[in-house]
Amino acid sequence: MFGLHTYRARLVIYVGLLLAFLLGVLSFSYYSSRGVIRGEAERNVARVAQQIEGQMAREARDLLERVKMVRDNSSLVEYIHVVLWLGTDGGAVRELYQRQFGWLPVHRVVLLAPDGRPLLGGEHADLAARLSALNRGDPPDGHFYFRGARGLELVAYATVRYRSQVLGIAAITRAIDRAWLLAAREAGGGQLFLVEDGRIALGTGDASFTGLGFAPAGNAITLRDEGYLVRPIAFAASPAALPTLWFGLSDAELLRQLTEQRNVILGLAIAGSLGILLVGFMLLRNFSAPLTRLVGVMQAVSEGRFPEVGETSARDEFGYLLNRFSAMVASLREKQEEIRRVHTQLAEQATTDALTGFYNRRYLYELYPKLWSEALRSDQHLVVLLIDLDLFKQINDRHGHMAGDEVLRHFARALRDSCRVSDFVFRMGGEEFLVLNHGDLDGAQVQAEKIRAAVERVAVTHEKGSIRVTASIGVARAERVDGLNSLSAVLRRADTALYAAKQAGRNRVAVAEAPACA
Ligand code: GH3
Ligand code: MG
Ligand code: MG
Repeated sequence: MFGLHTYRARLVIYVGLLLAFLLGVLSFSYYSSRGVIRGEAERNVARVAQQIEGQMAREARDLLERVKMVRDNSSLVEYIHVVLWLGTDGGAVRELYQRQFGWLPVHRVVLLAPDGRPLLGGEHADLAARLSALNRGDPPDGHFYFRGARGLELVAYATVRYRSQVLGIAAITRAIDRAWLLAAREAGGGQLFLVEDGRIALGTGDASFTGLGFAPAGNAITLRDEGYLVRPIAFAASPAALPTLWFGLSDAELLRQLTEQRNVILGLAIAGSLGILLVGFMLLRNFSAPLTRLVGVMQAVSEGRFPEVGETSARDEFGYLLNRFSAMVASLREKQEEIRRVHTQLAEQATTDALTGFYNRRYLYELYPKLWSEALRSDQHLVVLLIDLDLFKQINDRHGHMAGDEVLRHFARALRDSCRVSDFVFRMGGEEFLVLNHGDLDGAQVQAEKIRAAVERVAVTHEKGSIRVTASIGVARAERVDGLNSLSAVLRRADTALYAAKQAGRNRVAVAEAPACA
């Protein structure tokens, strides 16, 4: 009812703006989080790649320790020395190795004599060939990655000596196979790819990845319609002739992180919106509802109504205001009822006579025009009976004014008893009365006679005996020809008739002549 200017409407707008702002901020943070997550993913890929590099370096050191352990085994060294000195084949050395180190988790073992003759692992020609290059001279112990018949391998080697005499070179290997890749991937999810000649030779993904071309653009590549963030793992000092190793994180993984982020933001949005709506609801409930109630009551008050407001148990400012207002409206309502009562009383007093309870002369002038127009419409007549007590002055003179009043009261009772409920009875002043009703002259004459007889019977007991009284009555009919002057004309005629009654000796009824042209 107040349009946009209301507190309620503004509150709804503010809550709406706040909601829009919240959703805007959260959407912005969601979209900007994509970039953050991408950057985070790149850092994550780099971190995992470094972890794998560190792990590979540790494995190389471990493998080197193991080959040194083999090399430093004195019984094995003495065996080798004897075998070389006797010039027999390495069968005894193989047996001893199996007994002593068969448990070692290594893939291949090769032991070459200084002349390149294999004492152990003679079947591994590829590795033996690579090692014979190192076997010349007295190289320091070390490790390298090797792409041989078994694929990529980590090789650790150590020079075998017997009392400072070089007995050859010992090497053990660990294959960089699928099991190795799977174990290495554990560190950070994602995938590991071993790439050779631009194709995936081995991977932690399913077999369908094997053989796929692998040519990343920057740090991204698409494999089987799935995008990956990739990074090479640096593991060999001179990687030229070796396969490359890559760590990759798929977009699905990124998407999962994004979805997690989105769910968090969605949760925040819902919680925030609910919070704002709750605050809005509480504001409406605590401020707007009582205000609207107050405004409604005020409107009613301004229209002159004083509705029951009722008390509220709320102990806040609005509750206080509402209760004070309710008390004020209740008090106004009481005042209004008081005024109405007094008004009715005054209106009654203004139209009635205190002594007899009949209408007064003033009310005759107010009522008559209505009755007259009603009578004209319904084609009825109005008749008046003008009653004047006879020689009343004498009663006053003889018995006193108080007695006169008492006679008037008795007369009034007799008059009322002689009238119908539909008759209007007026005290015209002093001891003069008028009866007004719908009807004809004959009926009025009969009624006048009835009244006259009733008055005659009135007897007021008084100290000087019983006071009797009579009345003279002039009867007249209102005529159409009287027009607008109907009341004064009919009163005049009734008065003339009354005068005639008085003249004729009082205590009688006289009927007025109809006007000449009626
Ligand atoms: P008539 O028969 O000619 O009417 O004689 P009357 O004495 O009644 O004469 P008139 O009508 O002139 O006198 C009316 C008297 O009634 C005058 C006044 O003293 C008396 N009167 C008028 N009003 C009251 C009243 O309220 N109480 C009393 N006690 N007397 C009243
Ligand atoms: Mg008189
Ligand atoms: Mg008189």
